[in-house]
Amino acid sequence: MAFRVLTGLFGHESNAFSKLPTRLENFSNYLLAFGDDVPGAIKGATIEPTGVEEAAEYMDWDLVRTVVAWATPSGPVARDAWDVGTAAILDAAANQGPFDGVLLNLHGAMASVDHADAEGVLLAALRDVIGPDVPVAITLDLHANVTDQMTRHADIICAYQTYPHIDQVQTSWRAAKVLDRAMRGEITPFAVTARRPTIEGLDDGRTTTDNPMTKLLARAAKLEADDPDVLLVSLHAGFTPADLAEAGPSVSVTGNGNDPRFQAIAEDYMDYVWETRHFDSNTYLSVDETMAQVHALLAAGKGQGPIIVADFSDNPGSGAYGDSTFLLQGLLRADLDNACFGTICDAEAAQTLMQAGEGAEITLMLGGKTDPTFGPPIEVTGTVVRVTDGTYVAQGPRWKGVTHHLGPTAIFKAHGVEIVVASNRLQLTEVEAFTHAGIDPRQRDVVAVKSMQHFRAAFQPMAREVLICDAGALSGKDISKLPFTQLRRPIYPLDLD
Ligand SMILES: [Zn+2]
Repeated sequence: MAFRVLTGLFGHESNAFSKLPTRLENFSNYLLAFGDDVPGAIKGATIEPTGVEEAAEYMDWDLVRTVVAWATPSGPVARDAWDVGTAAILDAAANQGPFDGVLLNLHGAMASVDHADAEGVLLAALRDVIGPDVPVAITLDLHANVTDQMTRHADIICAYQTYPHIDQVQTSWRAAKVLDRAMRGEITPFAVTARRPTIEGLDDGRTTTDNPMTKLLARAAKLEADDPDVLLVSLHAGFTPADLAEAGPSVSVTGNGNDPRFQAIAEDYMDYVWETRHFDSNTYLSVDETMAQVHALLAAGKGQGPIIVADFSDNPGSGAYGDSTFLLQGLLRADLDNACFGTICDAEAAQTLMQAGEGAEITLMLGGKTDPTFGPPIEVTGTVVRVTDGTYVAQGPRWKGVTHHLGPTAIFKAHGVEIVVASNRLQLTEVEAFTHAGIDPRQRDVVAVKSMQHFRAAFQPMAREVLICDAGALSGKDISKLPFTQLRRPIYPLDLD
């Protein structure tokens, strides 16, 4: 008899300090499908449910699909989206069982407007329905904030091992293999989690350099290979702008059976996370420092490929607004002649530019409309080069095969900078955000993107140089002004060194 497995993806990274709630339409703008529509909706996409489908076919599971739902990070999930996502999973759990196992693709840093530990609440509710004995496996982003409630109700915890995240499919496979063994009765998985008083660590999980994250991943791989009872070691760098007591880095160990030595392993790994908490592989430049470096590089002559400037602080991928104008202002003042900038999220400006039409010269107020603290609207005069529907299929390693929707989009050229003015907020991870509108970033001297790290997957290979700019928007490095109310204190770096 094939094992009957309940599955679903309900993922969001919720920035507690964003004023923009994440509604159902934000999910439908990105990825939202139910039940038997799921395979069609994810066809060709290198995301977690694809790994579940592959593993289920290989292991001959009878899969009960509930939902796939993903939205760009922003504020906590609104009730309409929360109710739809959780009902899809819980109703199927109640009505389509019994189940031999559960494999859920979660993010691990979701908050709803009612629940700071949204995934913990979801897993507790699921446990109420399916009972204590059905093995539950969860996959997570490595920026998960793993709570005790999540750990209590999940038997198998398995996070990505790459940042940029390019192993979503493999992560589902890793969890599925352990779940399959559990359903066969070969093992009894039990998960434990350890933390330290820090909200930062593991070099934010970056795996593009030699750092505490890559060192600990290597150690974990060796331990999993050497010790048959250590089923999975899951390393989490945490997600900082979450107003949650247990936010921050953690290590979860899934062992065979409830043995205190697995907690000891997790604690030992967290000792290392604590010891290395100050490590940061990035050099963060202000806008002025960034532009000085850009000028120095350009003065040194043409290089191989563009200078990539990444605005770390206005990354929609961590819930920032994507309309900060600080870096754009710096570029416009810099007297460049061959640059592009992606994106400014400003639906009103995109509409005005589209109405003006291709070839029109126009002056308008651009960006800065969500919260002028992060760069007020700026007056820009330029030419509408192109208008598009903002739709493209990602080809980079981060989101390959996923259709992205920037919404109505205009390319507005001013002072030598082609600005992608979009209607929807999206982290700039894909070359296609430019090429779909006729801009080839490989041919530009300077390419500015709003992204912290994921841009590296597609843009690092073409880059002459990568500069990380902390322009001072919502997701900047200085977290001292974020109004945490639930976070455990004292904590590094706010109270402890
Ligand atoms: Zn992440």
